Amino acid sequence: MSKVYEVGIIGGGISGSVTALQLAKNEIETILFEKNESIINGPPFCHLHAGGNLYPDITDEQCRLLMKQSIEMARLFPQSIDRRPTLISIPKTEKLEPEQIHRRLKMLENFYKVLIEEDPENCVLGQADNYFKIYNIEDINNLKDKQKVEFPLTVDDWMCNAVKVIDFSKLKMPLFMVQEYGWNMFRVAAQAQLELETTEYCQLKTNTIITKIEDLRNKKLSYNWKLYSGNDVYKVKYLVNSAGYNSGKTESSLNIHSEGFIEFKAAYISKWENSPCLLPELIFHGERGTENGMAQLTPYSGNYYQIHGMTDEITLFKGGLVRDTSKDGTPLFNDKILIKLNSGWDTDEIYSRTQKAISFVSRFVPLFNVASVGGPPLFGAQQIVGSDSNLRVAEVNFPLKTYARSEIIKASSALTVAKKILEDFQIYYKDTVLKKDLSEKMQENRVSKEDITHLAEEIAVKRGFNRSMANLVIKNT
Ligand SMILES: Cc1cc2nc3c(=O)[nH]c(=O)nc-3n(C[C@H](O)[C@H](O)[C@H](O)COP(=O)(O)OP(=O)(O)OC[C@H]3O[C@@H](n4cnc5c(N)ncnc54)[C@H](O)[C@@H]3O)c2cc1C
Repeated sequence: MSKVYEVGIIGGGISGSVTALQLAKNEIETILFEKNESIINGPPFCHLHAGGNLYPDITDEQCRLLMKQSIEMARLFPQSIDRRPTLISIPKTEKLEPEQIHRRLKMLENFYKVLIEEDPENCVLGQADNYFKIYNIEDINNLKDKQKVEFPLTVDDWMCNAVKVIDFSKLKMPLFMVQEYGWNMFRVAAQAQLELETTEYCQLKTNTIITKIEDLRNKKLSYNWKLYSGNDVYKVKYLVNSAGYNSGKTESSLNIHSEGFIEFKAAYISKWENSPCLLPELIFHGERGTENGMAQLTPYSGNYYQIHGMTDEITLFKGGLVRDTSKDGTPLFNDKILIKLNSGWDTDEIYSRTQKAISFVSRFVPLFNVASVGGPPLFGAQQIVGSDSNLRVAEVNFPLKTYARSEIIKASSALTVAKKILEDFQIYYKDTVLKKDLSEKMQENRVSKEDITHLAEEIAVKRGFNRSMANLVIKNT
């Protein structure tokens, strides 16, 4: 008889990979299927949303969840966190007022204090009192005469550099420097892959697409599910669907009702040769989907910068946000998007959208207009469950016994999902004893920083990006 695995996971994105790691750490025999040649190779991420400050429209509760989950992920993947702050600003054209941002930041600062009181190891965003700092026009003028700082250490150092490049005449005052960090996806992929390779409890099957799920729960067998890939069949007791925006399509045979949206988005890589100094991440708020949508400039090592511009011409796409009809086989997107998603991008469009993104940011950072295309776009489709397309935090659903569907919207929710799946698994397999408290395990350093860097560089190059993008702007100790 072929082997029966305790858990089968479909999809090696961040959700499936983190779940596999947590199960393996608890010695639960798992098999992880990924249709691509490497894990964490789907839609990108670059920002650790430790407070949700890029989303003024979401609820305080979502902001707190994003902060809590981001802290957990920063503890799990410390070598992927770029510890430089984010400057939040509001252009004068916008309705949003700085006071709204300030109120939320005070709430988040208090919440962060509580998280540190609960567990001092949660103090990964610096001291709670320094979670954010306000800059008025006088503060900015005072910093104008100071020299730029080659290796910024304090928030004032970072602000001093930002002051050298931003056109403040276009912005409402005050501005806010927040301890929301960068998050290097190449390094997360490298750490996850190395950790999965060191465990005997998880079999990683890349280049393997699961085409059919068979529900055998009523047959009283030693397993509940059969998974099919080509001529191969896999038997598992507990099934996790982490197929991202393909979750609905993957479970189409299971007759489960679920509703939601799928959104296709892209971010662009630019190179700013001789950029004047190290910069914090820069956020210029704006109403999503309008011509003044939010602009986001994310610095990487080696003078590479990732750009989001929340307009239809840059990050968003006409027809890019659709209702999820994947279960009934209806194509989700128009042909233009489907081609990008499945076959890659036309060179002209890479150039034109990246140039638009550069011009978009240059409205506020005039010197940036000399930047050029620095690599292929980072793009992908993501699921948004439920009826609110502005939702930014979702976790996991258990619509059937011994079946979990991950529904994350932000990469930071992956560990919460993994923990909940472990809890659900224990309901059915009561003999499973968690080997250690998961938070203790987060401290374990199973792979070296050097190995992560080496593999992350290889991953970046294989995916068509410059090697230096796999390094952190701020070197971690
Ligand atoms: C442009 C853009 C920018 C973003 N920026 C951020 C950010 O800064 N911060 C943040 O936290 N989040 C960000 N996100 C969201 C983030 O990318 C997603 O939350 C995250 O990728 C979801 O992870 P996942 O594992 O659930 O799904 P995915 O990453 O989609 O992974 C699903 C995996 O399943 C595999 N798969 C699918 N079907 C099958 C099958 N049948 N058999 C085998 N394998 C299968 C796929 O190949 C894929 O690898 C961004 C998203 C986009 C599009």
